[in-house]
Amino acid sequence: PMGTQRYIKGQTLGEGTYGVVYKAVDSLTNRTVAVKKIRIGKYKEGVHVTALREIKLLRELKDPNIIEMIDVYPHKRNLHLVFEFMESDLEAVIRDRNIVLSAADIKSYMQMTLKGLAYCHKKWVLHRDLKPNNLLIASDGQLKLGDFGLARIFGSPDRQFTHQVFARWYRAPELLFGSKQYGAGVDIWAAACIFAELMLRRPFLQGSSDIDQLGKIFAALGTPKESQWPDMTCLPDYVEFQYCPAPSLRSLFPMATDDALDLISRMLAFDPKSRITAQQALEHRYFHSEPAPTRPELLSRPP
Ligand code: ADP
Repeated sequence: PMGTQRYIKGQTLGEGTYGVVYKAVDSLTNRTVAVKKIRIGKYKEGVHVTALREIKLLRELKDPNIIEMIDVYPHKRNLHLVFEFMESDLEAVIRDRNIVLSAADIKSYMQMTLKGLAYCHKKWVLHRDLKPNNLLIASDGQLKLGDFGLARIFGSPDRQFTHQVFARWYRAPELLFGSKQYGAGVDIWAAACIFAELMLRRPFLQGSSDIDQLGKIFAALGTPKESQWPDMTCLPDYVEFQYCPAPSLRSLFPMATDDALDLISRMLAFDPKSRITAQQALEHRYFHSEPAPTRPELLSRPP
């Protein structure tokens, strides 16, 4: 069986950036899956073909920390993407007040996130829209990055639903200034914001517009000096911000270890050229000093 015949549709799981997601059973394997219906009806024929071709490339991404895309098929005016079904996501973990996140648990989540990023970046695929609710958690505790590469194919509309975390809060300053030649650094910035959120148990930089987001970034980290980010003033949407001195990172994360602070500061480097890479971050002493990361199967999950 193919496409719509192969998957037996179940309950709706929710509405995301690209359309409705529903639960289904793969009649071929008896596995529970999540089917993401992407509306592309409004595009021309060519877009359909291009999108299908690009999505087929994403199916080649196979890693323990990347959500597996099992199948893809067009149906009516939609594209259906079939993923392995995931029990939970990091947003639910962060929000659940009954879950205590120890330093070792945070290290485990960050290590799995960075491993997934390192794998995709090595293959030249960016996420671009990383946020806690697309860090999905499997029944064995493994964290897997979802929606990899979709932002580039389908765009990342700012239209958001009330239950959703705003992607803007995780957006790197070069994107907010309109950079079109951004790279893997945008995912590292988002991962740093998630790192901060795991420590704070609330979103780190909650801007209400793109300009306000930049204001929040500069209030937290200081306005970048010319020497810190020489290319900033050349970006398409660059505007000058009032000078803000940098408070110490220690004052923002009083409970963090020195190793954690050093790593997050390198992930939050203003100049994307100076930002640490996922591979370098995994080699940082934070991941090799005590406490060791919690084994994924021992991490607490929401009910
Ligand atoms: P967003 O665009 O905000 O990232 P998604 O389209 O990824 O949202 O997801 C919409 C809803 O479907 C969410 O409630 C999410 O938890 C659920 N969902 C998405 N992917 C999966 C999956 N692989 N397994 C289980 N639930 C999923």
